[in-house]
Amino acid sequence: MNSFNKGRGLFNLTKLDCSFDIRNNKFFKLIVPTVFLCLLIYGSWAFIHKLCINQLYHRSGKRATGIALIVTHGCLLVVDFYIWFLIVSYGPGIQPRVPTFELIDDHNEETNERVIRPPHIYECNVQGYPIWCPYCGSVKIFRSHHSRSTHACVPKFDHYCSWLGSVIGQDNYKMFLQFLIYATITFGIMWISTIICYLKYFQQRNHDGNLVTIVILAGLGFFFTTGLLGSHIYYIISNNLRSIDVMGMKTQVMRNKVVFISIWDEELRKRFIIEITREQYYHFWDIGSPYENLKDAFGYNMLTWVIPNIYCNRHESVLQDEHPEILESILGQYNVIVNKQSIEMMKDKVRRGEYVCIMDAYGDNDK
Ligand SMILES: [Zn+2]
Repeated sequence: MNSFNKGRGLFNLTKLDCSFDIRNNKFFKLIVPTVFLCLLIYGSWAFIHKLCINQLYHRSGKRATGIALIVTHGCLLVVDFYIWFLIVSYGPGIQPRVPTFELIDDHNEETNERVIRPPHIYECNVQGYPIWCPYCGSVKIFRSHHSRSTHACVPKFDHYCSWLGSVIGQDNYKMFLQFLIYATITFGIMWISTIICYLKYFQQRNHDGNLVTIVILAGLGFFFTTGLLGSHIYYIISNNLRSIDVMGMKTQVMRNKVVFISIWDEELRKRFIIEITREQYYHFWDIGSPYENLKDAFGYNMLTWVIPNIYCNRHESVLQDEHPEILESILGQYNVIVNKQSIEMMKDKVRRGEYVCIMDAYGDNDK
């Protein structure tokens, strides 16, 4: 149920928050990563012990091949577990608390509630008031979604990964993609090498059930991670979207939902409330080229795209004290930029008179 709080000038939004109820069950959250971990351990044991040592090293005399596969698989497994550890320990990131925008002059009211200047552009309701997260007591910024798992609004929320047991957001998205890359390589090597060996030594009547299990599990893992990685890369390249955006695009109910944007027009010196389609909204994040979009997801140094981070304690680079009244300063690295094409598209709407209303925001008087 949406409710409008006139006293604070805020728009509470609870219905759109991620509602993965089953995933909020603590038992469910633990059991899937545990099963996944057990399968990885079992698959690795079967691959190393049954295939590399028993079959290749002892029976077939392919000692070099056996050792090479053990070393390669061992290294990949260490990297897989290390990135998994990074994903969970870094976490998805937490959106800093954003106070109410100064839309009305409430200096006469007896309130100590902090307010900040309204930014040039923000998502709002039809009356122009920003979207409010009642759980965090904060304005929700672009691309931020409240996660019941972390009990916080997560910047650039992607999804809750049941397999790894972690929410994926801005801080660990690159690590998640790296995990998919290394897991794809790990499963691919296991799958292909087991199939080759099984076919090659099939005549020896060595029908080990563990080898068949590796073929099935590694095959499933390989196709699952390849498909997931491929779709993530495709969505990044095409529009710099995240999973939650894509899910929103796929459901008819969400596609039909319009989005209201409050935008300050510097030339006209006025603030307009504009209605846009959800499809137009999802073009906000496209930086302009596939390469630039990839840099947004993987980082600006191409060398680090596939090299896992060296673990260090995360430091907050949020500049809370520099300009505490400006949204960009509060958000720091979590600030989201809308592309110029979308800004121009909305300004064109204003010029054509296609806006919902003009908003006389008190905080805009300082601009
Ligand atoms: Zn929240």
